[in-house]
Amino acid sequence: MYRHTMSNLQTREERANLILKDEKAVRRIDSQRYFVKSQSGNGEYEVISSEFGFGCSCPDHLYRGMECKHVLAVKFSLELRKKVESQITIKPIAIGNCPRCKSETIVRHGVRKNKSGDIQKYSCKQCGKWFTLNLGFERMRATPQMITSAMQLYFSGESLRSVEAFLKLQGVRANHMTVYRWIGKYVKLMDSYLEQMKPQVSGTWRTDELFVKVKGNTKYLYALMDDETRFWIAQQVADNKYSENVRPMFKEGKEIAGKKPDILISDGAMNFQEAYKEEFWSRVAPRTSHVRHIHIQGDHNNNKMERLNGEVRDREKVMRGIKKMDSPIFKGYQLYHNYFRDHDGLDDKTPAEAANIKIEGRNKWITVIQNASKLQN
Ligand SMILES: [Zn+2]
Ligand SMILES: [Zn+2]
Repeated sequence: MYRHTMSNLQTREERANLILKDEKAVRRIDSQRYFVKSQSGNGEYEVISSEFGFGCSCPDHLYRGMECKHVLAVKFSLELRKKVESQITIKPIAIGNCPRCKSETIVRHGVRKNKSGDIQKYSCKQCGKWFTLNLGFERMRATPQMITSAMQLYFSGESLRSVEAFLKLQGVRANHMTVYRWIGKYVKLMDSYLEQMKPQVSGTWRTDELFVKVKGNTKYLYALMDDETRFWIAQQVADNKYSENVRPMFKEGKEIAGKKPDILISDGAMNFQEAYKEEFWSRVAPRTSHVRHIHIQGDHNNNKMERLNGEVRDREKVMRGIKKMDSPIFKGYQLYHNYFRDHDGLDDKTPAEAANIKIEGRNKWITVIQNASKLQN
């Protein structure tokens, strides 16, 4: 009697999760047919997925028409399976083979002293050759650590000149224009690699924009963001806040996410409504609705939008070095936001991690640059 009362206190979701604790509890026959172990004794119930939904052979479903714990267990296991299948992991590149004899027995062998930082040396146990591993940073005058630190500092809000001052303290002579060239080179390289990754974003997308000054002219940087993961899906740079055609950004968003949003939230400007009609609106399901959210100061619903403004800190100063509108700097902010910046609102995960793209290694910048370079070579 006591046990019976206890089990009634659990929700069906909890009971379904309990079933899934046993890895063999759900047996998949094919995509339409499953067997789920009975919790109260021996035997299994049959769960069928059809165009009419899920059905189960247990009394709860047969006599009461409930969505029983067995159906829920199958649904949860399908979600889990999808999640694992869609997880992308980007790993650091291993040292690999000796460039002379191709042997795999490689050991660390001190560092090569360099006036702009030390570079790790390796030696081959078979033939004795020593070599450096510098994938993606060949012929650079500073080490991977210095170059990636410069980028991290710049995108977290430091000016080019203060990055230059930091490098000088580290013994690296690189003026602000050199730093700007590094950023251009590596943002382009990283973007060509990362743009192939498909983020798992939610169905609610939000538009955001912030103004930036480029050579004294005000420009607008539009962003299309996923509400749940905060992943910055697509961007567009514009001359005009209210009249620019933002259709290219919406189109790119669809391509990157592989879907349309269920809900689009914008500040209600006409250019967003027009682009929504052209790219997202449809007569048939799945349909996208457009929530036009007029900005009211102090309105907490706009907090997520203001976050991006806070990120690109001290914008006029930061943007001063920018020469062209196709500047890699804007793309760099997007990459930094998605892949390198831990987010308080996401349990210190990056938006990319929340969207199932994980970058491993002590220095994520180096991991991405190595992988991107390996692909190009
Ligand atoms: Zn059932
Ligand atoms: Zn060798």
